[in-house]
Amino acid sequence: MAYAIPTPPVTALPIAGSSDLFPVRRVYCVGRNYAAHAREMGGDPTREPPFFFMKPADALQVVPEGQTIDHPYPPKTQNYHFEIELVVTLAKGGKDIPVAQALDHVFGYAIGLDMTRRDLQDEAKQLRRSWELGKAADFSGPLGPIHPASKVGHPAKGAISLSVDGTVKQKADLSDMIWSVAEQIAYLSSYFELAPGDVIFAGTPEGVGAVTKGQTMVGSIEGLGDIRLKVV
Ligand code: MN
Repeated sequence: MAYAIPTPPVTALPIAGSSDLFPVRRVYCVGRNYAAHAREMGGDPTREPPFFFMKPADALQVVPEGQTIDHPYPPKTQNYHFEIELVVTLAKGGKDIPVAQALDHVFGYAIGLDMTRRDLQDEAKQLRRSWELGKAADFSGPLGPIHPASKVGHPAKGAISLSVDGTVKQKADLSDMIWSVAEQIAYLSSYFELAPGDVIFAGTPEGVGAVTKGQTMVGSIEGLGDIRLKVV
């Protein structure tokens, strides 16, 4: 038996300090996981818990260590926003994973951007439609190399920041997350059977905003280095 059309490529992410690649299965994203960002988006973090949505695996964009890469500005938006996020990658899956065991499932961590066509997302919210046009654009998940937990541990605190053309726009601490990484894994695994290759964007802090063509974004997380993208 053969496939009737060419098989789609596997999205594969570089691993810091290794020539091996990390194959991606699914990409989950957490919404409103920092209280100040929930408020800037019009929510009340004391009443609404974080929630999940997804991006397609092939919307990820590999950002190699130490390079500035071109990031294509997507079509159909006038308000394209950056969201710096800690990204968690899973080596093991499971259902109903207890919080206390959740971190045993992590392969490693990376810096990611949940790039968002905010005008299309806002329109979807108003019309009570789903968020894909806002959240799932091609290239909408730039991602740096994965740092294995065996080397960097499980970062629960440390600076997370994003600057545009040298001006800091987002600056917070990983300890500000409402749901910890372990809680995110446990919660998700009660709705879906998680599997090796799953990726979780852990939510963005306050200060999200728009970029235009020609601007350069630098995203940093303490212990994970930085990623650099020029919007073209
Ligand atoms: Mn996000």
